[in-house]
Amino acid sequence: MLKLENLSKTFGEHRVLDGISTVFPEHETTVVLGPSGSGKSTLLRSLNLLERPEAGRYHFDDELFDFGKGLSNKEILSIRKRTEMVFQEYNLFPHLTVLKNIIEGPTQVLHEAKDTAQKRAQELLVKVGLGDKADAYPSQLSGGQAQRVAIARALAMQPKYILLDEPTSALDPELELEVLKVLRQLAQEKQTLIIVTHNMAFAREVAARVLFIENGQILFDGPKAEFFNTKKQRIVDFISAMT
Ligand code: ADP
Ligand code: MG
Repeated sequence: MLKLENLSKTFGEHRVLDGISTVFPEHETTVVLGPSGSGKSTLLRSLNLLERPEAGRYHFDDELFDFGKGLSNKEILSIRKRTEMVFQEYNLFPHLTVLKNIIEGPTQVLHEAKDTAQKRAQELLVKVGLGDKADAYPSQLSGGQAQRVAIARALAMQPKYILLDEPTSALDPELELEVLKVLRQLAQEKQTLIIVTHNMAFAREVAARVLFIENGQILFDGPKAEFFNTKKQRIVDFISAMT
């Protein structure tokens, strides 16, 4: 379980995360919704320390990390190991084959044996529907295929949490579907996902919980059914504008 307590992040004068407190349970999909500029990406990036909150606390299972006190390198690595990010723009290494993209982290960071890493990479490629693409280069893939490789690469690190920041918003609708299919399957398998998306139909389908943020604050935090049936006018307006 990952619990955030009073997380704050400021860029200059702008408080982008303003006292965020919530819990991300394991084996559940949380969808993060909110208008553009509300702090969704900053929140996700803070979860694996691509951004460093200046105040607040993380509880990861029974470990406590206090941003106000600063973190040691060991603590930073410990947090990073539990979270993997999937970006909107895939960020694959262009000079490496698909297989090498996937085994890079496990062999270099986790120091896994190469043959073990390769075997699992191949299994993950099958899982995301790309069993025949191990030797392809990223430039030979469609956007949907590249994003599925990025998902396989995140899974290869065996993190507790996979963080996905608008994973399909760079894709044409038909390519989006093949990525959503993989995410739907992972959610069904109880892989813990935290997804920022503007696709309300997908949010409605895949979320167990919804976090709605605006101006760096949480306006809603609860079960999906409650979110989509809320009477809070701001959220009713948001949902109808997005669907
Ligand atoms: P969202 O993902 O919800 O659209 P972001 O988290 O990307 O929102 O951004 C929230 C606010 O923080 C925006 O006003 C954005 O301009 C600002 N912001 C994000 N990253 C930076 C940065 N590195 N430096 C300065 N301002 C930033
Ligand atoms: Mg964003």
